[in-house]
Amino acid sequence: MSGLDNKVGKLLRPEVLALSAYHVPDAKGYIKLDAMENPYSWPEDMVAEWLERLRGAEPNRYPDPACADLKAGLCQANGVPAGAELLLGNGSDEIIQIILMAVAGPEVTILAPEPTFVMYRQIAVSLGLRFVGVPLREADFGLDLDAMLAAIATHRPAVVFLAYPNNPTGNLFEAADIERILAAAPGLVVVDEAYAPYADASFMPRVLEFDNLVVMRTLSKLGLAGLRLGFLAGAGAWIGQFDKIRLPYNINVLTRISAEFALEKLPVLDGQVRCLLRDRAVLAASLAQFDGIRVYDSRANFILFKLLKHDAPQIFQALKAAGILVKNLHPAGGPLAQCLRVTVGTPEENQRFVEVLRALLG
Ligand SMILES: *Cc1c(COP(=O)(O)O)cnc(C)c1O
Repeated sequence: MSGLDNKVGKLLRPEVLALSAYHVPDAKGYIKLDAMENPYSWPEDMVAEWLERLRGAEPNRYPDPACADLKAGLCQANGVPAGAELLLGNGSDEIIQIILMAVAGPEVTILAPEPTFVMYRQIAVSLGLRFVGVPLREADFGLDLDAMLAAIATHRPAVVFLAYPNNPTGNLFEAADIERILAAAPGLVVVDEAYAPYADASFMPRVLEFDNLVVMRTLSKLGLAGLRLGFLAGAGAWIGQFDKIRLPYNINVLTRISAEFALEKLPVLDGQVRCLLRDRAVLAASLAQFDGIRVYDSRANFILFKLLKHDAPQIFQALKAAGILVKNLHPAGGPLAQCLRVTVGTPEENQRFVEVLRALLG
């Protein structure tokens, strides 16, 4: 070890040194079906109108720290109940970080079912918090309610994260199970609705019904991943405290103006979502026809599948060699062994993926 490595290793917390960085592969030139992006761009006249709106931006000034108009637009578009307040984040990733910074301390535990969105664990560990993952049922990736309730009783978590629908499995947990968890949890329960546009189920209308519930959403999976805008809805008592930790200018001027504009054009994005829902069904049906694949039900814009007769890492590499990028979940192990996750793309992209896969599965 060099002298510098030694210095770094001495100064930084061991949990930081032990982390591996969140790896994002270079996707240039690939059919990109790995990151739950909406594949559609905007019609040309809409792009022109957007650029015209951006003309009004003042990059020499700090951005608006309150974003009142944007929040009003988000509340309306997302059915946020009257009386609930919003916290905006640079993606919902930042909101996870804000929540965990607010509870961080010695002996504090964060809990989530697993497999789930990896940032809950990653951010908790980076802040020196204990993270408890409770295995989902292997058969269908549903919540193991008894195990969840037992873990909650044992570990008394400050925060429970529930991705609804879950990533990378794509399923929705039972609403009744989430109600039981809300009743049992001594701390906050974050229902993460990143895939709300595709799910047709939500706790948003009920966010004020439980005093320990907050609901998190993002514009990323709807079709605005590049803007980095997520939000948390809940009682002012929670949101006001979290807002103290938010850096004052976390929403930049280009994001604010672009998101306000996109919310005015919601029918365009909703139309894209309808196409993706239709194509999710087509893609799932195509995958289900293959012998040797188990397809999991999805309420999101991606599909998880397990290879029963082939090696997932090998198929992943062969897809990549054919110019198609999906997510290889095999390295996560456990119930995700031999699993790949494909994002729903355009009909042409989906078809190409299915054709290549067909050739590979022989
Ligand atoms: C993608 C994803 C997020 C992160 O969304 P950003 O707003 O882009 O940071 C959060 N939660 C889940 C479950 C996700 O899949």
